[in-house]
Amino acid sequence: MGQEGAQKRGSATLPTTTAPNGGSRSGRSLRTGNRQIQKTLNNIKITILCGLVTILVLRGTIGFGSLSSDNELENQAIIEETNRILAEIRSDKDPDDPEDDQFQPTINLNDTYTLGAKILNWDEERRLWLNRNQDFPNVVNGKARILLVTGSPPNPCDNAIGDHYLLKSIKNKIDYCRIHGIEIVYNMAHLDKELSGYWAKLPLIRRLMLSHPEVEWIWWMDSDALFTDMVFELPLSKYKDHNMVIHGYPDLLFNQKSWIALNTGSFLFRNCQWSLDLLDDWAPMGPKGPVREEAGKILTANLKGRPAFEADDQSALIYLLITKSEWMNKVFVENSYFLHGYWAGLVDRYEEMMEKYHPGLGDERWPFVTHFVGCKPCGSYGDYPVQRCLSSMERAFNFADNQVLKLYGFRHRGLLSPKIKRIRNETVNPLQYVDQFDIRHSGQATSN
Ligand code: UDP
Ligand code: MN
Repeated sequence: MGQEGAQKRGSATLPTTTAPNGGSRSGRSLRTGNRQIQKTLNNIKITILCGLVTILVLRGTIGFGSLSSDNELENQAIIEETNRILAEIRSDKDPDDPEDDQFQPTINLNDTYTLGAKILNWDEERRLWLNRNQDFPNVVNGKARILLVTGSPPNPCDNAIGDHYLLKSIKNKIDYCRIHGIEIVYNMAHLDKELSGYWAKLPLIRRLMLSHPEVEWIWWMDSDALFTDMVFELPLSKYKDHNMVIHGYPDLLFNQKSWIALNTGSFLFRNCQWSLDLLDDWAPMGPKGPVREEAGKILTANLKGRPAFEADDQSALIYLLITKSEWMNKVFVENSYFLHGYWAGLVDRYEEMMEKYHPGLGDERWPFVTHFVGCKPCGSYGDYPVQRCLSSMERAFNFADNQVLKLYGFRHRGLLSPKIKRIRNETVNPLQYVDQFDIRHSGQATSN
């Protein structure tokens, strides 16, 4: 498989402190003393909004129906004003939340940031815990226990369609996990206020390792990544001597020092001391504000192809592995299947795949994961036209959903259609179809 699977994450429009969906939302720049005023202002805005809505409703119901064009214009103005005020309210941060004040950095540029109290003896402690809690084994029916973790920002998306695709994305992951006996966590909180945005996964993964000693592998997956092969299973036995598994290309990493050599949209960590140590070494570039900004300059200066912007988790990991290559002993760089697959090369080929191949392959013939890098469906500013992103996500979702619906005898009318059609006649012997179509059985043939 070539290196076309490696792709850039959002470049020019990655959330920076100047992007509208990043750090410059109006509430963030308020100082503590202004919070009360802000609260009062919000209340006034809500009152005005209620007034405007009341006027609109009254006009509609008591029928100033034969409106002159003057009145229509006025109505239009009221609607616009309503939308403006709504947008303003949405963009306001909670005035009681001190973390929203970007002028209160708690991390000094000279400090080394830590994820928490240093843990030194996790392997031994976890071994003892597993011995004491035999009801919670880390291996179930011969399979290592996996916890899939995903999440999204605490606030609503900038557009309702973004929330719709977050819902479709978690539905897709629940389906995959249900079929394969994998547990799943959805997180919307910033467990560490310094590590917001794409950095939020680090403290979350650490916390889940420590709270779930029974889990052997923590598997992070972005909200903009979908399972598109519902049959394929991770070849875990291949990773028995490794503690981290990530999609990427060694040549891009060590020879080219490319900022897209690895992709942090889908990767696994073994629950062990080594992983806690790696997270500790990965996190220091993460704290938002000046630390993240300064670290971004180092990353851009050292990684090929990287645009100038604040430090992101993916570049920071690549930089860490290049500069301290001893970590690589336990990192498995996977590219024999799409643990992460860049969407743009895949979504237009689904029909061809359905004609020629079948689920369970996981590679370019039937990609395991399709990741919508650079689309920012939950934000306002992606690198690609919104319509192209949304229709591509719809196609990926339905491509995957067809694999699930097949068990029940249905499929989507087309890859862009939410409507479904029956593909089998009802029968008085339903169990024959269970044996034939339950994809839980087909998974065993392709994995170990
Ligand atoms: N994310 C999160 N909380 C946040 C912001 C982001 O959990 O407050 C997660 C979300 O799952 C998102 C991922 O971090 O998919 C990485 O961000 P994104 O996918 O936008 O980056 P890209 O893959 O485009 O580089
Ligand atoms: Mn992503």
